[in-house]
Amino acid sequence: MTREYVAEESGTVASAVPLLAAALPLIGHEAIRSRGTIGGSLAHADPAAELPAVARALDAEFVVRSQAGERVIAAADWFEGYLTTSRRADELLVEVRFPAAAPGTGTSFQEVARRHGDFAVAGLAASLTLSGGAISDARLAFAGLSDMPVRAAGAEDLLDGERPSAELFEEAARRATEDLDPPADLHGSSDYRKKVAAALVRRGLPAAADNAGERK
Ligand SMILES: Cc1cc2nc3c(=O)[nH]c(=O)nc-3n(C[C@H](O)[C@H](O)[C@H](O)COP(=O)(O)OP(=O)(O)OC[C@H]3O[C@@H](n4cnc5c(N)ncnc54)[C@H](O)[C@@H]3O)c2cc1C
Repeated sequence: MTREYVAEESGTVASAVPLLAAALPLIGHEAIRSRGTIGGSLAHADPAAELPAVARALDAEFVVRSQAGERVIAAADWFEGYLTTSRRADELLVEVRFPAAAPGTGTSFQEVARRHGDFAVAGLAASLTLSGGAISDARLAFAGLSDMPVRAAGAEDLLDGERPSAELFEEAARRATEDLDPPADLHGSSDYRKKVAAALVRRGLPAAADNAGERK
């Protein structure tokens, strides 16, 4: 039941889960964030929403409770499709666990929306951890490109162990989008969404790499 604006203003969230902090201000407008909740957004599971992409990128855990007891669901198993999660009708989402970012982690949330505050046409949650100048952990998850948030596993594998460079990030953008088949709607064709997604990777990875150094 934590309101989105409460997490947005939290110094703890900003320092421990910077990707979440980067995504929160992009949710709608202040009036929306002053009422909307973290759990509500994640239970609602809108594939274009910011927080599901963050949860998927970071492998968040969802704690649900019913009279029968409690279970913990991994983000990979939480999102099942458009506005659909693996939560059973008798269960409440009572806790969401986001892992604290490791030292050397840089993050960026990128999105393209028709107007500020609109749901994104496409969004990208990006997190890079650098160790000794090389990428030791890469996490990319898209919003708005499928019926649920999707990880760009091919691009993550490519980035793993490499040193950040413009050429590497260009190839990551290609790999991240090659298998995507985004939905078309009145905001954009499938092809347009795919091009936007590649542009988000080209923007998000350098931004994440740049701020990785700030987190010792
Ligand atoms: C005009 C407008 C613009 C918006 N723009 C954006 C945007 O750009 N990006 C974005 O990400 N979101 C956006 N939102 C969504 C908003 O941020 C909230 O996440 C969303 O409205 C859910 O609100 P809520 O937290 O009050 O949940 P509710 O509306 O109360 O709940 C949403 C659903 O989840 C269920 N639910 C809620 N909490 C739980 C729980 N703990 N356990 C089990 N089920 C639960 C409810 O039963 C309901 O089915 C927008 C909303 C509006 C109205």
